[in-house]
Amino acid sequence: MSSLSLKGIGVSRGIAIGKAYLLQRDQLKVREYLIPLSLIEAEQERFRQAVVVAKAQLAEVREQIPASTQVDIASFIDTHLLMLNDKALAEDPVKLIHERGCNAEWALKLQRDALVAVFEDMDDAYLRTRKDDVDHVVNRIQRILLNQDDNIQVMMDGRLKNSVIIADDLSPADAVTMQNEGIVAFVTEYGGPNSHTTILARSLGIPAVVGVKNVLRYLQQGEPLVVDGNHGAVLVGPDEKGLKHYQLRQREERRHVAELGKLKELPAVSLDGLAISLQANVELPEDLVMMDKVAAKGVGLYRTEYLFLNRDQLPDEEEQFETYRGVVRKLRGRPFIIRTLDIGADKALGAEQRQDPRGVATNPALGLRAIRLCLRDTSLFLPQLKAILRVSAEGPVSMMIPMIASVQELEQAMQLIQQAKRELQDEGRIFDDSMPVGGMIEVPAAAILADVFAKHLDFFSIGTNDLVQYTMAADRLDNEVNYLYQPTHPAVLRLIDMTIKAGRKSGIPVAMCGEMAGEPRYTRLLLGLGLTDFSMQPAMMPEVKSIIQKSDVEQLNKKVRRVLRMSSAADVEIFVELLNSQT
Ligand code: PEP
Ligand code: MG
Repeated sequence: MSSLSLKGIGVSRGIAIGKAYLLQRDQLKVREYLIPLSLIEAEQERFRQAVVVAKAQLAEVREQIPASTQVDIASFIDTHLLMLNDKALAEDPVKLIHERGCNAEWALKLQRDALVAVFEDMDDAYLRTRKDDVDHVVNRIQRILLNQDDNIQVMMDGRLKNSVIIADDLSPADAVTMQNEGIVAFVTEYGGPNSHTTILARSLGIPAVVGVKNVLRYLQQGEPLVVDGNHGAVLVGPDEKGLKHYQLRQREERRHVAELGKLKELPAVSLDGLAISLQANVELPEDLVMMDKVAAKGVGLYRTEYLFLNRDQLPDEEEQFETYRGVVRKLRGRPFIIRTLDIGADKALGAEQRQDPRGVATNPALGLRAIRLCLRDTSLFLPQLKAILRVSAEGPVSMMIPMIASVQELEQAMQLIQQAKRELQDEGRIFDDSMPVGGMIEVPAAAILADVFAKHLDFFSIGTNDLVQYTMAADRLDNEVNYLYQPTHPAVLRLIDMTIKAGRKSGIPVAMCGEMAGEPRYTRLLLGLGLTDFSMQPAMMPEVKSIIQKSDVEQLNKKVRRVLRMSSAADVEIFVELLNSQT
């Protein structure tokens, strides 16, 4: 059997093996016809009734949501229910029927087109995908008006077991209804990484690939398929070798997930009883879902860049405040460290948004980035400082400044924080006046001078991603010099050691939030250097936790000191190998 592979966007992880179930819905054919004046009221009533039935259908779907699901799926359905109550969908078409003297379907179509046009004009990718919600709700009403069965509702007879659902698009309600029937994956022609259905698939743990062009045309009913949600691929009619490969990967994936589940509630305590703090690095909203799955104790690094990238207009204070507040509320009392903007170098804003005042920097990693840029352009920095201060009134929020290299920068930043506080006071806003302000130690100068910096800051977080690049003078993105990008180079380890010691001496906490903190291979090395606060990608947490549980930190403290006297990363790596092999 030859295998055909279709490409799309992998939006929900996991491997699924099943048979294709093509969801061919009748195309909704809506056309306009005129309604005699005497029947206008009856037509308006027919529309109102359709809305009532749509609400009843959705309420029924809401009942079917499994209690065990993590994300608040009911809220997705509630969004649609709310839309059915909204004037724009529930009343405006009624008016249109009267004004145009047309049928209910046509009035609804006109209203849909007007609403969608507004969404399509929006810059924000997330809001643009809300257009899908309008379509899902409108289509539901249209099917009722047209007396067309939603064939998902009539298919609930066990036929979908082990099926991969192939559809043009799916509404969240469809997804909920079908997942109770034992389907194994979703593949759709439309939809994007931000659509509700995508988010739902992720939270239900169903692999999903979206954006597969013409998928309904390429596939046949019942055809065997492999869906690779990690890579956005759909393998059609896999041969025996391909099938074996994916079965193996599926087993590995399931083992990993099972492991995750087992470790979730267990504390990160070493063999000798030392409690280690494991926090999450968060960049995208999905990371918050993932961090709950691994029971992270808080957010140790919240990268704010994603809010600023890929858009024409920068987010103002209000938008930032809303976004950060959303996270504080989700964290329900867990600590939340918001890093101020680290834009520049590998995370440059669009050229037309903000120009480097000197033109193109020749060496952006050493150029005007992060705190340097923020101090230069206070119109960028102050709104963020104010937004962060405002959310500090809502929970245990801290602010963290990236790329600090000199005390002067720190002093300037502190002055701006004072200015932000004064402005907020004048505006009558509340904030936590004693909100902790920490700094990232990621420039060698900061590590060497950590004892001095500690006098100005409430905590440190070591950013090894940059600390390694600057210590070794090896660009973190340049493959030509990646042989020099060595986190275990003794020079890097000495800087880490100096930072941890300076923090301890001054009585301020020291965390690490660079990738090194989430690399299980280095967990014991870091524990041995005295690190007790780790912040990492949530997915790495279970493995790091299991190593902590098998480690004796007191023993490690004694053993690891010798790495500081070693002469090369190669020597350290051999030592690390040995350290990790001991039980
Ligand atoms: C780091 O440099 O280690 C870090 C965590 O920050 P970023 O990767 O965002 O530069
Ligand atoms: Mg960094």
